[in-house]
Amino acid sequence: MNQAVLILIKPDGLKKSLTGNILTRLSETKLEIVAAKMVRVSQGLAEEHYRHLKDKPFFKEIIKYLQGELHDRKKVMALVYWGKDAIKKCRDLAGATNPEEADPTSIRGSYGRITTSGIYENVIHVSSNEPEAEREIKLWFGPDEIIVDLYPAKEVVQKELRSMLWA
Ligand code: ADP
Repeated sequence: MNQAVLILIKPDGLKKSLTGNILTRLSETKLEIVAAKMVRVSQGLAEEHYRHLKDKPFFKEIIKYLQGELHDRKKVMALVYWGKDAIKKCRDLAGATNPEEADPTSIRGSYGRITTSGIYENVIHVSSNEPEAEREIKLWFGPDEIIVDLYPAKEVVQKELRSMLWA
């Protein structure tokens, strides 16, 4: 079954210059990249992304982590991969959430660490299931930024919309 999955290369992945390695590992899946961009993550976006963890003691720290405040890299790379069993293939390659428990050959097992304050810095996010993938992809991308029609969309004309054009 074809699926879409949101991948984030988190600020530690970018700071450690792992973008190429991670994309190479993900290319083993033979999935198609249907969207990609660099994002400066607002507090609101980070909190919405991790809303299922808002009662956890580490919530504040992972919001700072995703915003890049722990790594002096205030950006993440967001991608959507698409194809057969995309979620399982990407999660298998990513490895377990805790990098110490992750298979050592997985992306998190190879490159992740636990900080002295106990945060799992695991270099990559992968959506956990189809409903979460849809929620996350709609949170991080607009329909115009994805080169296939993943979910129903509607066309609207926004007159007062402020946007930047090349000068
Ligand atoms: P995943 O990213 O594997 O889907 P979660 O959504 O449960 O896992 O957690 C989101 C992120 O929060 C993790 O990727 C990790 O960076 C951090 N995290 C999760 N659980 C813990 C924990 N027990 N202690 C510290 N950090 C954690």
